[in-house]
Amino acid sequence: MKLAMIGFGQAGGKVLDRFLEYDSSRGTGIIGHAVAVNSAKADLMGLDYVPNENRVLIGQSVVKGHGAGTEPELGEECATEDIEEIQTAIDRMISSEIDAFLIIAGLGGGTGSGGAPVLAEHLQRLYVEPVYGLGILPSRDEGGIYNRNAARSFQRFAGSVDNLLTFDNDAFKTGGESLDQGYSEINDEIITRFGALFSAGEVEALGDNVAESVVDASEIINTLGDHGITSVGYASELVDPHNESKGLLDRLRGRNEDNGFATPGDATNRITSLVRKATLGKLTLQCEVDSTERALLLVSGPPEALNRKGIDKARKWLEDQTQCMEVRAGDYPLPNEQKVAAIVVLAGVTDVPRVKEMQRMAIEAEERRKELQSQSEGDLEDLLEYGDNEQ
Ligand code: GDP
Repeated sequence: MKLAMIGFGQAGGKVLDRFLEYDSSRGTGIIGHAVAVNSAKADLMGLDYVPNENRVLIGQSVVKGHGAGTEPELGEECATEDIEEIQTAIDRMISSEIDAFLIIAGLGGGTGSGGAPVLAEHLQRLYVEPVYGLGILPSRDEGGIYNRNAARSFQRFAGSVDNLLTFDNDAFKTGGESLDQGYSEINDEIITRFGALFSAGEVEALGDNVAESVVDASEIINTLGDHGITSVGYASELVDPHNESKGLLDRLRGRNEDNGFATPGDATNRITSLVRKATLGKLTLQCEVDSTERALLLVSGPPEALNRKGIDKARKWLEDQTQCMEVRAGDYPLPNEQKVAAIVVLAGVTDVPRVKEMQRMAIEAEERRKELQSQSEGDLEDLLEYGDNEQ
C-alpha cells in the first residue's frame, strides 16, 4: 500500500529515514510522500533520505531549535503552533496516490510524544484516508519519566488514529555497544516487519509474479479497522531455491510420508511452522493472542516455496489461536528472495500487560515527582528560614 509517512521527533525521523532507504533499495513503492517534523534542528539535519524541503522545524519561538527534551507539553505546543507549516509539507503529496497516512513517533520523549497526536487529530479532520500511528514505546530501564510520557501519549495517540501499530523497544533490546548501535539494530527490526507488511499491499511492484491470493491495500485497511491497537509477529527462514525442487524429488521417490508434510523441505510444513513462530514468538507488542479482533497473515518468499495449502492450513490455525472469525491471508512472491517470511498482524488487541505496566510506572513516577517537589520546597523553606523565627 502507498503511504504518506510523517516521522515526528528524533525516533520518528530516524525510522522514516530507514523506511525510505528500504523503499528505494527494494523498489517497493510503499512511500508516496515523506515528511520529517522536529523541534530540534540538529536531528532534522542528521537525516539522510528525507528530502530537504520536507524537513519541517517546528516551535522555533518556543524552543529555538533545541528540541522539547522530555516534555511532551512542549512538543504539543510546538506542533499546535506550527501545524500549518507541517500541512504545507504534506500538501506536496499527490493525494490521489495515497492509501493512508502513517505517523511515526517515539512516545517516551517530548516532540513526538506530544506532537504526533496533535498531527493525527489534524489529519483526521482534513482527509478521508485512514490515519495510522506507529508508536514506539520506551524500554523499561529508560525510567519513570519516559514511561509516564509514553503512557499519556499512548492514550491520546490511540484515541486520535484509526489504528496504533505499536512497537515496544523493551522487547527488542539488544546488547549493542552504544545506544546508537542498539537503536540501529532495533530500527532494522521495525523496518523488517512493517516494511514487509506495507509492501505486501503494494501489488503493482509484483509485476508478472502473480500471487495466488493477493493481499491488497484494502485488505490491510480492513484488518486495521478504524480504532484499536495492533501488534505484529514475524518469523523467517532462509531457503535455497534450488533445493525446493529436491523436496519435490524426495516426494516423487516416496520419501515423504502420506500426510505430505513430513519432508523438511516441504513448503506447506515450512509455512505453518513459520506462522506458529511468528504468532507465538516475540511480537512488536507482547499481548494475549486470543484478545485479537481481526488478523492478517502474509507469507512472502520465492514462488516455489509458497503454496495455497500451507497458507490455508496456517490461516485455520491462526483462527483457532486468535478465536476471531476475521482472519485474512495471502502470499507475496519475491522471485529473487532467499528467505520465506511470515508476518502476522494482530489488530484490535485488548489484553496487553505491557501497557498496564507502563501505566503503573507512570502513576508511580508522578507520585514520586510530587513527593520530591514538596520535599524540596520544605527543604528550601528550612534553608531560608533564620533569625526571626528563632526568637
Ligand atoms: P523526541 O525527539 O523528543 O520526540 O524524542 P526521541 O524520539 O529522541 O525519544 C523518544 C523515545 O524514542 C526514547 O525514549 C526512546 O525510547 C525512543 N527512541 C529514540 N531514538 C530511537 C531510535 O532510533 N529507534 C527506536 N526504536 N527508538 C528510539
